Amino acid sequence: MQLEVVTIGDELLLGFTIDTNGAHLARELAGAGVEIVRRTTVGDGADEIALAVRQALDRTGAVITTGGLGPTSDDLTKPSIAAIFGREMRLDEEILAALKARWLKRFPGQFPQSNAQQAMIPAGARILTNNHGSAPGIWLEDERGRWVAMLPGVPREMRGMLADTLLPLIVARANGAGAGEPTVVRSLTLRTTGIGESAIADALGEDGRLPAGVPLAYLPGWEGLDLRLTMKGLPPDEADAALERAASLLRAKVGRWIYGEGTTDLAEPVLAAARARRLTIAVAESCTGGMLGARLTAVAGSSDVVLGGVIAYANEIKVAELGVRQATLDAYGAVSEETVREMATGVRARTHASVGIAITGIAGPGGGTAEKPVGTIWIAADVDGTVTAKRIQTIGDRDENRRRAAQGALALTLRALTPGRA
Ligand code: ATP
Ligand code: MG
Repeated sequence: MQLEVVTIGDELLLGFTIDTNGAHLARELAGAGVEIVRRTTVGDGADEIALAVRQALDRTGAVITTGGLGPTSDDLTKPSIAAIFGREMRLDEEILAALKARWLKRFPGQFPQSNAQQAMIPAGARILTNNHGSAPGIWLEDERGRWVAMLPGVPREMRGMLADTLLPLIVARANGAGAGEPTVVRSLTLRTTGIGESAIADALGEDGRLPAGVPLAYLPGWEGLDLRLTMKGLPPDEADAALERAASLLRAKVGRWIYGEGTTDLAEPVLAAARARRLTIAVAESCTGGMLGARLTAVAGSSDVVLGGVIAYANEIKVAELGVRQATLDAYGAVSEETVREMATGVRARTHASVGIAITGIAGPGGGTAEKPVGTIWIAADVDGTVTAKRIQTIGDRDENRRRAAQGALALTLRALTPGRA
C-alpha cells in the first residue's frame, strides 16, 4: 500500500520546529509494509491545506495529515479537508461532553468556549480516539474508498494515536480481502567505527554492493559509519531472513569494525568488554567536560564498571587532581600525547580503576595554532598499566568536535579491551 503524508504548520515551514512527525510516520508505517511515496509540508492556511491534500488524494487515494486539529484559530485542518469531501462540520455532543469532563477534572471552573471547536466533526467521519490529549483524530473516506486520516501535531499525541488506533486500521485495510499476502519494509543497521565509507566499500568488494538484491546504504556521522540494509515487498519472515543473510555477509567481511546493531551506543560494547574481564573504568576529561562520563553512565547497569572521573579543564586541576607533571605541561602543552598519557595513568592511579580513559583537545572555535589547529584531540586508554594514545583531527564545530572526541576515546578503549578488533 502507498500513501502520502502532509504535515501542517507555519512553524515547520519557518524551520522553528523540525518535522519529527513525518519521520516517525515513515519509520512506523514501513514496518507495517506501507510505503510513504511523498511527504509535503504546508502552512496553517485553509487553502494551502486543501490544495496539498487534494493533490495527494488524486495521486494515491490515501493521506495522513498531522497538525492543526487544536482549538485555536490557526487550526483549520478539519474544515478545509471536510470541504474537499463535500461534508459539513457538525457539533458532536458526545465528544463535547467528554472534552468538558476531561477539562473540568483537571481545571475546575469555566470550560473555555474555544475548546468546543475540537468537538466540531465533519459529517460521516470516523473518530480516532486520543488517549494522550484532547483533540480527537479524524478519518474521512469517500464512496470510492479514498481516505484522509487527520492526526494531532503534538508529537506525543500523534505517536500515541498512530500506535493505538490508526496503524491497526491501516494494517487491516492493507491486508484486507483481495490484498494478497502482506508484505513489509524492514531495515537492519550495523554500526561501525574506525573505518571510512570508501574503505568499507573496498573491503566488501564487488564495488561495495551486496549480492541478492539487498540494498545497502552508507550513512556516515560523528558516531561512525552505519551500514543500513533494507528489504521491501517481502512477507515479514522472508524479509527478515534476507536481511540476516546480508548481515552475515557484512559481518564476515567487515566484522572487525562493527560494534553493534540498530541504535546501540558505542559505550555499551565498551562496558560489556570491561565487564567480561571484570575491569573497572575511570575517566579524565578536559575538552569534553564530562561527555564521556555521561555516555558511559547513560547505559543502565554501568555502575558495576564505572567508578567516576575528573573534569580536568584547567591545567591546575590536571596537576592537582590527576598528577600530571607541571614539567610535562610546560614542555609539550595541555594538548599533547605526553599530557594525555599522564591524565589516563593519573586517573587510573587515583581511583584504583583498572582502566583510565583520557581526553584533551582544542574544541574551538578559538585556541587553535598552526601546529595544533582547532579539532586537534589527544585520547588515551590505560588498561592495567599499558597505555595506548592516539591523535585525532576533527573538522566540525565545537559541539561536533567534542562529540567526536568522546566517540574516539570510546573506540580506542574498545580496541584496547578487545584483541583482534580493528
Ligand atoms: P493542539 O491541540 O495542541 O493545538 P494541533 O493538532 O493543533 O494540537 P499544532 O497546533 O499544529 O497541533 O502543533 C502542536 C505542537 O506540535 C506545536 O508545538 C508544534 O510545533 C508541534 N508540531 C506540529 N507538527 C509537528 C511535526 N510535524 N513535527 C514535530 N512537531 C510538530
Ligand atoms: Mg494547534
